[in-house]
Amino acid sequence: MFEKVLIANRGEIALRIHRACREMGIRTVAVHSTADADAMHVRLADESVCIGPAPSRDSYLNMAAIISAATITGADAIHPGIGFLSENAKFAAMVEEHGFTFIGPSPEHLSQMGDKVEAKATAKRFGIPCVPGSDGAIADEAEAARVAEEIGYPVLLKAAAGGGGKGMKVANHAGELKEALSMAKAEAKAAFGNDAMYMEKYLGHPRHIEIQILADNHGNAVHLGERDCSLQRRHQKVLEEAPSPALNADQRKEIGEIAVKAVKAMGYRSVGTIEFLFQDGKFYFIEMNTRLQIEHPISEMITGIDLVREQIRVASGAPLGFGQSDITFTGHAFECRINAEDPVTFMPSPGLITDFHAAGGLGVRVDSALYAGYKVPSNYDSLIAKLVVHGKSRNEALMRARRALEEMVILGVKTNIPLHQRLVAAPDFINGDYDIRWLEKFVGI
Ligand code: ADP
Repeated sequence: MFEKVLIANRGEIALRIHRACREMGIRTVAVHSTADADAMHVRLADESVCIGPAPSRDSYLNMAAIISAATITGADAIHPGIGFLSENAKFAAMVEEHGFTFIGPSPEHLSQMGDKVEAKATAKRFGIPCVPGSDGAIADEAEAARVAEEIGYPVLLKAAAGGGGKGMKVANHAGELKEALSMAKAEAKAAFGNDAMYMEKYLGHPRHIEIQILADNHGNAVHLGERDCSLQRRHQKVLEEAPSPALNADQRKEIGEIAVKAVKAMGYRSVGTIEFLFQDGKFYFIEMNTRLQIEHPISEMITGIDLVREQIRVASGAPLGFGQSDITFTGHAFECRINAEDPVTFMPSPGLITDFHAAGGLGVRVDSALYAGYKVPSNYDSLIAKLVVHGKSRNEALMRARRALEEMVILGVKTNIPLHQRLVAAPDFINGDYDIRWLEKFVGI
């Protein structure tokens, strides 16, 4: 097992990884930008190294500075966290070349899943159901028209290098195809410097369902059930739940088995998430995230498995130590992502936290790096806390979420707590009756 792990991240996720390390008797090294010198992850780690100025590209994305920090502190392994360098194959390879262990999948799997066209082809090859569409990139307008006729309108044009929903355009009928293609290409070129496009059938009312998997280096793999992350605004998840109110036991079993079989066949190791759109009883692969997910705690709550601990264990070469039949699913969990932002306009609201009281009590978990007197910097994303609740039933968890949201106090910055309070009181949400477009209609922007 590792003796010292460098955590190449910040905020609540750096703290989350630190906590797992401490419980495993592993010492931690925090890295931070100048803007984060007073951050909680720096305060709690055994050692810390400043790796550059506030902008991410100069600090949390500065590969050479992170490798140097690992060298001077004598770390054995680097945990990349979420975002930043966590899905960067070049960084993973660099970490290994310098003699450290990358706590994540192999660089090959990172690049395979990082390219959306290749990811979809790989998924198909390993028996994962995909949205009908082009086999690979589409060469020109004529091919686009041919594929669209074949799969039927409406169709969605997507950028091969895509991310964050950029470079995506819908064509509802043949007359819209030419313009949608040129607009999507221009957007992709500007965002990613690559205008390669592929096409999919556009689904009108899907849910976003994702399967958490965990695999070791010895050919063992399990799934930890699904999460329903359909409540999104501009492709950003807002509130997630596990299990999904939309799946029945057979569907759950079927998709879990497909996911496990595929990761075993791929030879994948580490934690990962296979994301699907789910409509009219059918699953359609959209992508695989080759890292921990922000919403991983809800899977932990219903299985009792510490995913970060397991991720570190398998990275060290240890076998999983449990199989699918050892995993039991208990109760229901929700996660409210609390952002420092205006609850109506969604504009970021960085600044000084003048008071902070985390909710508590039975079945409540708050993952946050906040403290009173902390200044939320404007340089990074606005997630400041995750309120996670667990209950024996969905209803119990829902009542607990309402109670915990009432209890939570964050003063000094605006937060989206009022939005979460509206959500947990909304009849459609209470009934579990929502798809990926529901939230944008609900909030109106
Ligand atoms: P990105 O990597 O840009 O986030 P994804 O492929 O993950 O792109 O898709 C982002 C979002 O776009 C999905 O979560 C879903 O909301 C929507 N989407 C993607 N593919 C389709 C599709 N075929 N039909 C309808 N909506 C889709």
